[in-house]
Parts: sequence; structure tokens; C-alpha cells
Amino acid sequence: MTSIMLDHLPRYPLATLPTPLDEASRLREALGGSQHCPRILIKRDDLTGLALGGNKVRKLEFLVGDALARGATTLITCGGMQSNHARATAAAAVRAGLQAILVLDTDDPDQSPQGNLLIDRLLNAEVRPIPKGANRDEAMAAAAADVRRADGVAYVIPVGGSTSLGAAGYMTMTMELKAQLGQIEAEPDWLYYASGSGGSQAGNVLAARLLNMPYRVRGVLDSPSSPAAAERALTIANGAAELVGSDQRVTAEDLVDVDGSSGEGYAIPTSEADAAILLLARTEAILLDPVYTAKAMSGLIDHIRTGQIRPDETVVFVHTGGVPALFVDAQRLALRAAAG
Ligand SMILES: *Cc1c(COP(=O)(O)O)cnc(C)c1O
Repeated sequence: MTSIMLDHLPRYPLATLPTPLDEASRLREALGGSQHCPRILIKRDDLTGLALGGNKVRKLEFLVGDALARGATTLITCGGMQSNHARATAAAAVRAGLQAILVLDTDDPDQSPQGNLLIDRLLNAEVRPIPKGANRDEAMAAAAADVRRADGVAYVIPVGGSTSLGAAGYMTMTMELKAQLGQIEAEPDWLYYASGSGGSQAGNVLAARLLNMPYRVRGVLDSPSSPAAAERALTIANGAAELVGSDQRVTAEDLVDVDGSSGEGYAIPTSEADAAILLLARTEAILLDPVYTAKAMSGLIDHIRTGQIRPDETVVFVHTGGVPALFVDAQRLALRAAAG
């Protein structure tokens, strides 16, 4: 198959596409050159536009398309206080003429507005803080009830926009990548990217299968793995296959996670990730984020250094965005930058 059937799904344009595919030759030099380091191509999904971009914008084109088709007035979603997905949803709401309610969990509801939270405020999203560990789905259901009481129509988007529809939307990344790789006649062996709530993984793995991509797909986890998350990704992927009218199904073995680079947990920094932020900034002027993409890049670098990827191979790294979180960690990163 050379394309994936998406045209029957309502889509609201939000992203600036196609995103570039960059050759990271200075990064390759810094990692030992062609003797020691594979060819590295970076798919710039940090540059999807829409209020600082990222991977969620592709999913939201389809989620918002569905919301509008259902007559929604308000998008409701959830995440951490610095959620990129929540920020992108708030931006999508503005563009589509909708309201946004963001259920964001935190230990510190009075934290100063910075990074994604600042952008949420600028975009006029309603932020509803809940304590960490509280039930996000219940809080979103309560928000939806409030919307209905005010005669609105709520559209609830689960965490990360990771539904089958969101994953179907993310397959547009692979469709673009296929065309771009054809233009430069590259046949990558690997696709690496930062994996969180599973929607990107579902889209990447399913699209690779449907489009006969030459590479194996590896998602570097943002937090230690859990069987429940893997199960969810599988359900999302096979729901997406149904949505695009394919009888292909993926299995648990197709969903390969890299579990060694997430450190102690979600959004807890690692020294290797901070080193990756400096390295990419100083070799390619590409800004990684500390929560997702820097951990993913540190996982890729580890696999290069330990020979799990050979120097004669080619790897595509998908930069999934997250740049606003850099500014949340300004103190630590500035110290690290000064230290070299
Ligand atoms: C959400 C996010 C991811 C993970 O995507 P999922 O579809 O949730 O797995 C990776 N990188 C960044 C910057 C993100 O915001």
C-alpha cells in the first residue's frame, strides 16, 4: 500500500505541513563520524506551528474535525501542569472558535505561570487544577457536565489526544516521511521517537506497517513502562486500523519500547537528557525538551554508543516538540550550559 485512507475523516487544518526532514551531519560528527555513528535524519514535528507546535497538532486536526462535526462548543482535556497536549488543545480551540477547559494535575496549584501554563493563560483556556493522583477522567466528566448545564456541547479529549482517531491523525507524519525519504533516496533502518501516552506509538507502528516502511520503530519512554500503558497503545493502534479501513492488526510484539532512558519518572530530569539538550543545541541548533525529546535522544545516543545501531545504518529521529518546557527548567539548564 502506498497511502492510508484518511480522507473520509473530518479534518480541521491546524498544522504547517510538511514538517522538514533535516540531515543532522554535525551531530553525527560529534558522535564519532561515519566510522562510529549512523546517519541521523531528524523529522521536525516540533515545527508543526500552532503556538509552538509539537506532535499533538497532527492528532488535533482530526480530533477537532470530529468535535466540530459533533457541534462541540468546548474542548476538554487533561494532563500535567506543563502538558504540551493541553497547550496545543487550547491553541486549537482558539483557531476553531471553541472554548477550552484544561484539567491539569499538580502538587502546587499556585506555581508561577511559565512554559506551557503561561501559554494556556494567554490563549484564554480555563485551567482547572486537580491534585496529583486525583482521577482526571472524573474531573473532565465534571467539566463536561458544567458545559452542558450552560447549554454548551462538550468534547472530551483523553490524555495526550491518544485515541484511535488521534493515532490515525498522527499517521500523517509517516505519510509525509515516506515521501521525503523517497526524494532523498534514503532507506532508514530505525525510527526513534519519544513515547508517552501511546498515540504516537500506535500511529507510528501502524503506519510503518501499512506503508511498508523499511525501518523498525522504537519508542523511548518518558517514564518507566507499565503493562497497562502497553495494552492501551495496542487498543489504540487496532482501533486506528479499523478507522482507516484496514484489516491489518498489530500485536504487543510490534510495540517496542526503550525503557532505560526515562530516569526516575515523568518530568524528572536525567543528566543524560540534559547532555543531549546541550549537544543538539550546539551541533544542530535544535532545541530538545527535558521531558520527552531529550530523554528520547539520550536513549538513541546510548544505542549508538553501545552498538545497538551500526554506523552503516540510518536512523530517523522524530522531534515531537515540547520546547516550552525548556523555560521551566531554566535555572538547571543554564548552570549545565555554563559548566560546558
Ligand atoms: C505528548 C508528547 C510526546 C508523546 O506522544 P504520545 O502520543 O503521548 O506518546 C512526545 N514528545 C512530546 C514533546 C510530547 O508533548
